Amino acid sequence: MSATHRAGTELSRRWRAARPASAVTHLDSAAAARPSQATLDAQIAHLRREGERGAYVAEMEVGEVLHSARAALADLLGPGLGPDEVAFHHSASTAFAALLTAWPLPPRGRVGILPSEYGSNTLVLEARARQAPLELINLPVDPQGVIDLDALDRVGMPTPGAARPLGLDELDLVVLPHVPSQRGIVQPAVEIGRRCAAAGVPLILDVAQSLGQLDVSHVHASAYVGTSRKWLCGPRGTGFLAVRGDLAERISVAVPSLYSMGRGEDGRPIPLPGLARLGIGEASIASRVGLAHALSELLASDPPLVFARIVYLASYGRRVLDGAGAWRVREQPDSPTGIVTLEPPPGVDPVAVRDRLYRQEAILTSAIPVQRSRDLEGPVLRVSAHVYNDPVEFDRLAAALSRDPGNSPSHA
Ligand SMILES: *Cc1c(COP(=O)(O)O)cnc(C)c1O
Repeated sequence: MSATHRAGTELSRRWRAARPASAVTHLDSAAAARPSQATLDAQIAHLRREGERGAYVAEMEVGEVLHSARAALADLLGPGLGPDEVAFHHSASTAFAALLTAWPLPPRGRVGILPSEYGSNTLVLEARARQAPLELINLPVDPQGVIDLDALDRVGMPTPGAARPLGLDELDLVVLPHVPSQRGIVQPAVEIGRRCAAAGVPLILDVAQSLGQLDVSHVHASAYVGTSRKWLCGPRGTGFLAVRGDLAERISVAVPSLYSMGRGEDGRPIPLPGLARLGIGEASIASRVGLAHALSELLASDPPLVFARIVYLASYGRRVLDGAGAWRVREQPDSPTGIVTLEPPPGVDPVAVRDRLYRQEAILTSAIPVQRSRDLEGPVLRVSAHVYNDPVEFDRLAAALSRDPGNSPSHA
């Protein structure tokens, strides 16, 4: 057993011990991971303080804690970002919608997107494209859905039959999910960030499915959106965005409110300074306090070891799940992400199988419906393990799928 493997096993044991016992085989961190007892306690303590002292007083009292959460997010997102460039939002989806609404784009601007874009984000992009109008340009991808770096200099045809493909430098913005929700792949975001920067094209990176499970810090993006409850093991109900440097001064207001706008001396409404113009006001402060705690645990846990353990678990999972009950793993066995997706045998419905697994085997997974993303040809089953999972949990799932791949008449 290698030293890294031993350290990973020990870390796993500590993360399990730090959590309340699970009533199920939880293989669903990509939907919502299990927070630690201390994270729950931090949240509950805040709720209690709100009741005892007044909710706004309680919020003021945790000012430093909230600052530390933004500092931790900035740390994880990478060098050159500070706490003031990070702001809380309701979720990754609302953060993305706010950024896209507020982002300065020229008339008929061109936005590079991916077929694997998260469904809600695609709807935001399409709505903005109709309104502005904008052109949405599909970036070239390989059969696994990974951006084809060799083709990135000829990113796509603006319209069918156009004279020549566009270069990256002819785009006004690129947006992409670092790790998509419905595929166990990782986009080569470091290289894409580098090429976008060289071409002078801003990049909005969606880290909802990557921050906390892999190293994001080497990616240089102009802006980021993410969420608390997935790989960061924070509570539900909070997310965040980050905007680099003085870009914040150049974006506009997404939703006018007392939390995003003030008035100039002449009485005219003006955006609040910097990122405050994307302020949302009312929020679950307890969720943010919980996230602050979850982030402190991640940073204290040696993030590279956390990331390595997640990759180890996923590759173990792919090995035992591929072929179980004729389900097929869709991605490369050693893909460096904790997301494993399974294609059903012919005639088997992943939604029914997810329900049956939960009801009969107490195994928690996700069925991903086709609406989740344009790149899905049919629904798939998603399985995702965090550090606190044990390889034996994948064995349990593989055995359940083998016993009953999902088309047994008694469970139809
Ligand atoms: C989950 C997810 C989102 C949305 O996050 P919410 O916090 O639910 O809004 C966005 N992008 C990707 C890739 C996701 O997996």
